[in-house]
Order: sequence, then structure tokens, then C-alpha cells
Amino acid sequence: MLSLAANTTERQTYLNFTTPYLIFPRVLVTGIKEPFVNNFALLASKRIGMVKGYAMQDFIREHYPNITIVDVENIKNGLEKVAKGELYGFIDGMDTVGYHLQEEFLGQLKVSGKFDKSKELGLGLRNDHPLLLNIFNKMIDNLSQIAIQNITDKSPSIRYIQRPDYSYLWWLLFVVVLIITAFVYKRHLLNNLNKELNEKIFEKTQALQALNESLEMKIKERTETIERSKVILQDVAYKDNLTGIFNRHYLFEKAPLFFVASIHLKEPLSMLIIDIDHFKKVNDVYGHIIGDNIIKHCVGNIQKNLRTDDLFARYGGEEFLVLLPRLTIHESIKVAEKLRLYLEQHHYRLNEISPPIPITISIGISEYQVGEALEKFIDRTDVALYKAKENGRNQVQTICCTDEIPK
Ligand code: GH3
Ligand code: MG
Ligand code: MG
Repeated sequence: MLSLAANTTERQTYLNFTTPYLIFPRVLVTGIKEPFVNNFALLASKRIGMVKGYAMQDFIREHYPNITIVDVENIKNGLEKVAKGELYGFIDGMDTVGYHLQEEFLGQLKVSGKFDKSKELGLGLRNDHPLLLNIFNKMIDNLSQIAIQNITDKSPSIRYIQRPDYSYLWWLLFVVVLIITAFVYKRHLLNNLNKELNEKIFEKTQALQALNESLEMKIKERTETIERSKVILQDVAYKDNLTGIFNRHYLFEKAPLFFVASIHLKEPLSMLIIDIDHFKKVNDVYGHIIGDNIIKHCVGNIQKNLRTDDLFARYGGEEFLVLLPRLTIHESIKVAEKLRLYLEQHHYRLNEISPPIPITISIGISEYQVGEALEKFIDRTDVALYKAKENGRNQVQTICCTDEIPK
């Protein structure tokens, strides 16, 4: 009779087996540092020891064909090989393994996995005494679970904790923390860089703005200088030095515009030529400088009596030309008369005490004929002036379009 016998096909040839009365889990024992094994398929490449000839080998080969089984002499021998690292693990029942672990390999080996099929142990009885089987089966059937528990409790117990290996989780956590730290650090560096860049951009923008403003100022100053220069140049080009009124050059440039306006708007346009009487004598008596002042005096008094859109220019020496838009020859006579009278009444005075110097002017008038050139218009007006001089000066004369221009 064998106590604690596992039922195998081979043994059945000479043994009868009772109902199992002790059931122990089949376990995998490994080095203390190995991870807990949930999936035995992962053991495919590992060398696993099992006691040679043990019924359990058949079970493992049948259910876990991927496991490479290495025969060992006995449990102790198998566990020693695992402890030395010659084998990855050792498979046996918890009952026997537990005892050896407790006694000899505490702190070196541990139970790292449990197979779902347990090791069932009963009595193996010679099969040539079939009665024995019935007797022991009856006895086992009558064993209370408490009694069985008492038996197993007396055997050295071992605690094994089905604790999966979380170390890789710690590694994972470590890597994640490392990545997050690196990310945060990089972000921090980027933020700093960004801040520095923004400060630099701000500084450069300020500098550029300042430069821009100073450039704008300079451009404005230059533009103003150019504008002033333009005005000065225009003044030099178009204005008379002595009197400040327009010169002959301006007159010749602008007169055609007066003609165009007159034709286009169908409005009359008249011309006055004003000449200071006996001016040679004035120069002779008072000198050229006073002569200049008298010319300015006359210009001021004439200008006072003209409209803003009349064109008043110094034609030459003491001779002036006025274009009167919108006035017929008859209306112009009134204007000319007013001018003549005004100058006659407003004598030039050298100073408060000296006697006034009487100045008179003669004026010739004509009206513009459509299509007439400026030169011809002037020539005709000059004829009227000539008439005024001829008739005794200090007077206004007109010329009709049919009047002949003297050669
Ligand atoms: P009238 O016109 O009445 O026939 O006699 P006039 O003495 O004025 O004769 P004329 O027009 O021929 O002479 C003009 C003189 O004006 C000649 C010149 O000496 C003088 N004159 C011309 N331009 C200027 C000037 O800018 N300044 C001064 N002081 N005299 C000038
Ligand atoms: Mg004169
Ligand atoms: Mg003259």
C-alpha cells in the first residue's frame, strides 16, 4: 500500500487508487527575484526541472507542451539546481515543495506560480486485493474535512502570495516621470528662451521705432526744406525782385490759361498796361534808390485796388500789366480810372516833412479777341497806352479791335 499516491495510467497496471483525500496545488518554484508567472506559455524558452518518473510530468507534458522539462533526481536536487541558476524553475506539488523551501531554501527560492490542475493524492493499493480498495474508500469517505484539515495543518505550511511583479510598472512609472520631467524642463527652457526673445524683440522694436521716428522727423524736415526751396525757387522764377509781384515770365506762362477760361466760360477778358509818367525825370531828380521806392509805392497802391483773381505783373522797368477776367473793355475803364485817380491822389512822401512827390500813371486798355496770341493782345493794348501818353499822360485810353497797330 502506498500512502499519498498520485493516480497514473502506468501505476494502474498494478495499483488500485482510492478517492484522493489530500489535494495540493501544483506550483512553480523559481529564484526569489523572478516575477510571478500568470501565464505558463511564457515559460516556453525556460528550462524547468521535474522529478524523473513522477506522474506530474505526464500532466505537464499533456497540458503545457511548450514547457521544456529537465529530469532531476529528486526534489532537493531540483531545487538546488534552481537555486544555483542551472534551472529557471522547478515544478512539483505544494506539499513537498513547501517543506523543502521552508527547511533549506528560505530567502533563496519562492513559489512563483500555481497550475490550475492540483495534485490529488490518495492511497495506492495492490490490485490483487480488490477488497482493500473498498475498505479504504469507505474509510476515506468517512473522513471529515476537519480531520483532513488537521492533517494538512500539521505539515509545515508555507505562505505564498500571488503577487504579480509590479517592478516593470515602477520602471514604466519611472520612465513616464522621466519623460514628463524632461518635457516640463524643456518647456521651462523654451519659456525662458521665449521670454528672452520677446525682451530682445521688444528692445529692437523700441530701437527701430526710435530710428523710424527720427527718420520720419528727418524726412519731414527734408520735405519741408524741399517745399521751402520749391517756394523760393518759384518765387525766384516767377516773382519780381523789387516789388514782389509776378514777373514777365509768370505772365507769359499763365496768360494762356486766362484765355482758355475766357473762351470756355464765354466770359470777357481785358488787359491794362500801366506806365509811370516821366519816370526818367523822377530818377534824375531823386536818384535811382528813391526811384525804386516810388515803383514799390505805385505797385502797392495799384494792388490795393485790384481783385484777388486779377493777374498783376511787372512787365518791365516802370511798366505793369493787368489781366482782368470777366470784365469787358467798358467795365475795365472804370477800374483803370479808379487806379489812375488813386495814384494821383496818393503822393509819394520821402519823410514827414519833405514835400510830397506827385506820381501819375497812364493806362492803355483792350479786350481779348478769341484766338488772339498774347503778343498781339499786348501790342494792341500798348497802342492804347501810346495814345494815353500822346494825349498828355495821366489818363486812360482804349483801343478797339479794328484800330490799327502802328508799325
Ligand atoms: P514816359 O513813360 O512818361 O513817356 O516817360 P518816362 O520817363 O517814364 O520814359 P520811359 O518809360 O521811356 O523811361 C522809363 C525809365 O524808368 C527808364 C529807366 O531809367 C527807369 N527805370 C526803369 N526801370 C527802373 C527801375 O527798376 N528802377 C528805377 N529807379 N528806374 C527804372
Ligand atoms: Mg514811363
Ligand atoms: Mg516806360
